[in-house]
Amino acid sequence: MAGERRFRGPIDLHTHSSVSDGTETPAQLVRAAVDAGLGTMALTDHDSTAGWYEAAATARTTGITLIPGMEFSTRISFLSVHLLAYLFDPSDAAIVAETSRVRQARLVRAEQMVERIGADYALTWEDVLAQTTPDATVGRPHIADALVARGFALTRSEAFAGILHWDAGYYQPHYAPDPLRAIQLVRAAGGVPVIAHPATRGVDDVIPESRLARLVDAGLFGLELEHRENRPEAKARLYELAEKYGLRVTGSSDYHGEGKPNRLGENTTAPEVLEALIKEGTGADPIYG
Ligand code: AMP
Ligand code: FE
Ligand code: FE
Ligand code: ZN
Repeated sequence: MAGERRFRGPIDLHTHSSVSDGTETPAQLVRAAVDAGLGTMALTDHDSTAGWYEAAATARTTGITLIPGMEFSTRISFLSVHLLAYLFDPSDAAIVAETSRVRQARLVRAEQMVERIGADYALTWEDVLAQTTPDATVGRPHIADALVARGFALTRSEAFAGILHWDAGYYQPHYAPDPLRAIQLVRAAGGVPVIAHPATRGVDDVIPESRLARLVDAGLFGLELEHRENRPEAKARLYELAEKYGLRVTGSSDYHGEGKPNRLGENTTAPEVLEALIKEGTGADPIYG
């Protein structure tokens, strides 16, 4: 039964593999987590559970505890809000339908962005496809890799700060559900929802207390307040609201392999928070490797 077996620390609940925009395969990612000294990790690719099987198979051979998860793209007007979802049923029909819709919208959006960029830089959709693996959730990081390959940026981060920045003129949003609906979908599939990096620029403006209260009513479990991109003032405000609404606080790296400076285990989650999360997650079991 979930929750009775023991997990070990340190606990990092937010990582990406090549199934979305991380640079390592799920197996390589799990081995990297073991090498980094983690006792527990969650795999949270964008809008996809395609890496769960491979990550679980590797976790079983290494002794790390794996929490299957996903980072669900949601949207409030033009702002993207990321929802971490843990231990939900990956075959739940509503989740499968919604995440395929989001992945398809991401693909069309990436093609349109590349078309616009292509008017000013020698970049083609084929260049971007060369940077993705089949079925991967496509995002700006893959366009960034193509820009790097073409010599228009030195690193992913430089591409994000320049050509791919939202105000550079090429940015475009993509379809994603409202966070309230995503929370309902995750809970209906037995999962546990946590807002990712909620104190980053913009996100905290679109989640005033009144909206947060509605998300809590819909089943929000926690806020990822320990994350390098959270801003101090917004973070302090959200710590107060977490206390007021009984929300749990998580800490994670948001590791993307070599694609981002974030290092595994740079922020961690308290064991009692993971314990509560595992108790509430009924759609999938942790893998106790
Ligand atoms: P998108 O969701 O397509 O708009 O792209 C945003 C994603 O790029 C987020 O998930 C970020 O974590 C990811 N990302 C990966 N590497 C970087 C980087 N070096 N700088 C900024 N964002 C990055
Ligand atoms: Fe990402
Ligand atoms: Fe995110
Ligand atoms: Zn992430």
